[in-house]
Amino acid sequence: MSNSFSSSTPDVQSDFLVLGSGVAGLMVALRLAERGTVSLVTKRAIMDSNTSQAQGGIASVFGRVDSFELHVEDTLKAGDGLCNREVADLVVRNGPDRIRELIDLGVKFNLDQNAADHTTLDLGREGGHSQKRIVHAQDMTGLELETVLVGHVRAHSRITVFENHMGVDLITCSTRMKRGMVTTTHDDRCIGAYVLDTDTSRVKTFSAAITVLATGGAGKVYLYTSNPDVATGDGMAMGYRAGATVANMEFVQFHPTCLYHPDAKNFLISEAVRGEGAILVNAQGRRFMEAYDPQCELACRDVVARAIDTELKKSGADSVFLDISHKSEEVIRSRFPNLYQRCLSFGIDMTTDPIPVVPAAHYMCGGVATDMSGRTDIHQLYAIGETACTGLHGANRLASNSLIEALVYARTAAEGAISEFDQIDMTTMPTPVAWDEVGTVDADEQIMVVHNWDEIRRCMWNYVGIVRSNKRLARAKRRIANIQAEIQEYYWDFKITPDLIELRNITMVAELIVRCATHRKESRGLHYTLEYPNRDDRRWGRDTLIRRPFLG
Ligand SMILES: Cc1cc2nc3c(=O)[nH]c(=O)nc-3n(C[C@H](O)[C@H](O)[C@H](O)COP(=O)(O)OP(=O)(O)OC[C@H]3O[C@@H](n4cnc5c(N)ncnc54)[C@H](O)[C@@H]3O)c2cc1C
Repeated sequence: MSNSFSSSTPDVQSDFLVLGSGVAGLMVALRLAERGTVSLVTKRAIMDSNTSQAQGGIASVFGRVDSFELHVEDTLKAGDGLCNREVADLVVRNGPDRIRELIDLGVKFNLDQNAADHTTLDLGREGGHSQKRIVHAQDMTGLELETVLVGHVRAHSRITVFENHMGVDLITCSTRMKRGMVTTTHDDRCIGAYVLDTDTSRVKTFSAAITVLATGGAGKVYLYTSNPDVATGDGMAMGYRAGATVANMEFVQFHPTCLYHPDAKNFLISEAVRGEGAILVNAQGRRFMEAYDPQCELACRDVVARAIDTELKKSGADSVFLDISHKSEEVIRSRFPNLYQRCLSFGIDMTTDPIPVVPAAHYMCGGVATDMSGRTDIHQLYAIGETACTGLHGANRLASNSLIEALVYARTAAEGAISEFDQIDMTTMPTPVAWDEVGTVDADEQIMVVHNWDEIRRCMWNYVGIVRSNKRLARAKRRIANIQAEIQEYYWDFKITPDLIELRNITMVAELIVRCATHRKESRGLHYTLEYPNRDDRRWGRDTLIRRPFLG
């Protein structure tokens, strides 16, 4: 491969570069550090991640009557015909070892108080699981994990953490244009990334033999989401722009009940509230789930989310309501102490008032396509965690299967990356081309960024949400194309800012979701289209794969 471009000394050089500090990034960094030096880059504070928000727990087989086969079957059933059985097998069978590893690192999971040995894990059960298998740390599992792993990462002498550093684009051997634009070639190699230091507003060049994308999900592409602000699909967009294959972006999981309140950005009302007998009523106070499913409020997530969406679209109301006020105050306060307090902090007393809720984008099943070692189709580039599409989730994710996927893939990817690293002749590693800002000036039209942020998220919510149609998808495609044209113009003329980078990425991810959704002419798992309401295995029983055209 020719390297005929001007190069410069990188700002930061290490053996491995990891983008993202959720469970996937932290865990892979710890493993890679056993072999070499690691730069761990994260765009805000190290704890800012989806991982820190995970409440439920981690699915893994520990129960006496449970088995790997049952966990695999539950995973495949949820995935509605699109899971890769081999991948499900890999994740499920490696699950218990990864949990034991976490315990050895100091993670404190809830133990079964009734067991004699005081080491038996307390296992919860969630929708779609045929057995109790959710390992958890109260209702703050992700926070416990993140806190313990961050402690280990910070203490490791071979890991350097760069907070407030945002990955902008990957650098490959074919990066040779202004601002790192990649002229995609096939058989490319990743040699690092351009990273914006958000404290100094300077773009730095990070060079590494192996780069791992672990930048999490993309909930912020939608107006309503359970995800924190960092979830803007950066890794998916960066991977795609660099020429990696992206898969199954049409499968976006919506959680049915997120609190609807101007001050509550992303607060989930747990499924357990419906489990305890709460009913859903519309703006007129009428219960509506009976009309949609015989299980009413206890129907599965997608059915409830779709029903709420239909009610909202029919009435034009802003939200529906979840009402548990018929239960005694004592029961509500003792069963949901945190929820009760959080709702109260927003002026909602759930013992007397119905809680306003909307469905919200929760989890991306699609992402950068990888093999069973987390390898993408660009050499020296790996993707793990929510950013990746490994084949585990298929068309719908089984609850609590994402943390375990991230843990298992952090290990297999580290093994793959170390073995690839050991084969690289470092004397042939090209020096990355320098970031070029010639001709750009400070941004003076921040309003364009703010306006387009809002427009893209509203457009995705209204036209590419829970229920899709040909007309809505076509409308979204046109709007997104207009916004992209504006962003392109702005991107080349002005110095980049974090908001602009994220806007560019959510718009890119929106485009990928629309393209995948338009392509799949059936309804399956999380993808529901009015014109094609049935599953069609013969024509569509396969992944949706998209890759940037060869631009060489
Ligand atoms: C409210 C909520 C509850 C959940 N509950 C559960 C549960 O009970 N069980 C379960 O299995 N799953 C659950 N999930 C899903 C699960 O938490 C995530 O899928 C998982 O944590 C993803 O881990 P990750 O490491 O891939 O990404 P994240 O944890 O999201 O980490 C991504 C990291 O990348 C950083 N980043 C992003 N972009 C850039 C960039 N451009 N440059 C540098 N850094 C960047 C972010 O700041 C962050 O540090 C839940 C999710 C939410 C939102």
